[in-house]
Amino acid sequence: MSAPVCDFCNATTAAYALDCADLALQATGTRGSAQTTLSGAWHACGSCMPFIERGDYDGLADYVTRAALGPPAILKMTTTAFRNDVFKQLYKRVLPQLGTPRPLARVGANWPQLEGVR
Ligand SMILES: [Zn+2]
Repeated sequence: MSAPVCDFCNATTAAYALDCADLALQATGTRGSAQTTLSGAWHACGSCMPFIERGDYDGLADYVTRAALGPPAILKMTTTAFRNDVFKQLYKRVLPQLGTPRPLARVGANWPQLEGVR
């Protein structure tokens, strides 16, 4: 059984679920825009959680951009600067909406621990 995917950086090591109301979003960059409706809870990995807990959407966008774990076609079709800008707009909207993180059940996986959480 594989681990859930982190909804931020796309790593297959999501360890937390955060409740969130459905959000209709439009992100606009210098060369286009993306529109979508995001429904329900978000999954996050141990690397993304510290940014989320601090409300650091710029730092999270920078981390996710550097992680570059998205679908190869998207990575090839978009520039790093475009993705970073879209992520910042998205996370600025999403982070304030997220509920208290709940650890996911750990089934046969060696997932990273969130630093500072006991
Ligand atoms: Zn992540």
